[in-house]
Amino acid sequence: MAKIIYTYHNQIYANITNKCDCACTFCVRSQHDGIGDADTLWHTQDPTLEEIKQAIDAFDFTGYDEFVYCGYGEPTCALENLLESARYLKSKHPIRVRVNTNGLANLYHKRDIIPELAEVVDSVSVSLNAPNAEEYEKVTRPAFPDAYPAMLDFAEECSRVIAHTQLSIVDVLPEEDIRKCQEIADSRGVHLKIRKFS
Ligand code: SF4
Repeated sequence: MAKIIYTYHNQIYANITNKCDCACTFCVRSQHDGIGDADTLWHTQDPTLEEIKQAIDAFDFTGYDEFVYCGYGEPTCALENLLESARYLKSKHPIRVRVNTNGLANLYHKRDIIPELAEVVDSVSVSLNAPNAEEYEKVTRPAFPDAYPAMLDFAEECSRVIAHTQLSIVDVLPEEDIRKCQEIADSRGVHLKIRKFS
C-alpha cells in the first residue's frame, strides 16, 4: 500500500495525490515506484481526508520541524485535502508547512487559490524548470496553454502573501539558463533556489 507520509533525507513528505496536470520528462515517478522509506508512492486510489489525518496521527513528528506536501503527484490537485489536512496538522503539531508545486493550481481550479493556501502554508516552492516558455513546454508538458506565464504569476502572487516563496531549478541546467532563470526570478521579486541534482 502506498505511503501517505514518507521520509527522505531527514524530511517529512506528504503524498496526498497521484494526480498531476504536467507530464515532466524528468519526473521521478517514471523512474522509481517509491522514494526514501516508501516502497511505493502509487496509491490504488487517492487517500481521503480521513486517511490523511490518520496517517498524521500515526506519525512520530519528534525532531522534525517541516512538513512538505510533495509526493507522486501535484499536491494542489487535491486542494481541499491539502488545506484541511494542513489545518489539522497545525492544530496538533507546531510544525511549518511547505508545498512543492508546479504552480499551475490557478489554471487547474480556474480561480485564485492563493488566499486559501496562505491561510495554512508557511512556504511554497514553485518549479521553474526552464528559462523560457518554449523550453518549459518541452520539459514539463503541461495540460494547459500559457502555463509558463501562469506559473510565474502564481509564484509572484504567492510571494506577496506567503513569506517563504521560492522558484526552484535544478543545477543540471546550463549556466546560461541558470543566469536567465535568476533574472526572471529577480524580475518577479521571488527568491531562486538552485537545487543540487540528486
Ligand atoms: S509536476 Fe511534479 S509530479 Fe507532475 S509530472 Fe512534473 S515532476 Fe512529476
